Amino acid sequence: MEDKIDLNRLCVHTQTTKPWDLHTCIKEYHKAGIPHLSIWRHLLENQDLKLVKKALEDHQLKVTSLVRGGFFPSVSKSVRKEAIQENKKAIDEAKAIGAPLVVLVCGADPKQSLETSRSQIQEGIQNLLPYAKEANVRLAIEPLHPMYAGDKSAIVTLEQANDMAELIDDPFIGIAIDVYHLWWDNQLQKQIERCGKHNNIFAFHVCDWLSPTTDMLTDRGLMGEGSIPVREIRKWTEKAGFQGPIEVEIFSERLWGINQQDYLKQIKQAYIEHT
Ligand code: ZN
Repeated sequence: MEDKIDLNRLCVHTQTTKPWDLHTCIKEYHKAGIPHLSIWRHLLENQDLKLVKKALEDHQLKVTSLVRGGFFPSVSKSVRKEAIQENKKAIDEAKAIGAPLVVLVCGADPKQSLETSRSQIQEGIQNLLPYAKEANVRLAIEPLHPMYAGDKSAIVTLEQANDMAELIDDPFIGIAIDVYHLWWDNQLQKQIERCGKHNNIFAFHVCDWLSPTTDMLTDRGLMGEGSIPVREIRKWTEKAGFQGPIEVEIFSERLWGINQQDYLKQIKQAYIEHT
């Protein structure tokens, strides 16, 4: 029965199965028939990246993206400079493991205005672009939910992300659309259309919004558990031309607490029924 199910576009973020180390993720995703994964950077610490690349190839797993770069803004010039270096390191890692994309959580500094942070994000991306192009690694701006505007991202709507991507106007900069961050926005359908028109939909992340949400970061739901019309939003991205992997990115203390192999089964089920 399971063999007939089309999982061709299914991608899982390693952070979704946080209790597992990288090689367990690779082994278990492969065993579960999941063809794509996105890798969180901390799992690459102290790893031989050549061996990581080989393990991915041996398990027929394609890397969708490396998560995450960004965090450009700061009132301190030296911190902004360090951020560029750190992003270059992320690009090097992406190249080494064969990841075509680095996702940017763009950052914000609560000590300055969002406008200032946004202009520093733009400057940071522009500084980084030549390096990314040289490495043949694309960059995706991920607009975050406004509840993170204080310190994680001054870019909180798809409109703002579209504005920035179009201003920078380079085939190596695009956008990661995450339903968790954007589902509430009544401009979403229109902005997805616009994003597709400019070939800027680089990635698509899914999970669900629980009510009440008990933690701003680690209380996300499986698709179908909450309020987000995930399937409808997916169709909008497809209408706008997106055909890439559908990335399951869930941070959940509750789901990290269950047997992770059972959890992968639930993810596949939720992907089939609600995505
Ligand atoms: Zn995301």
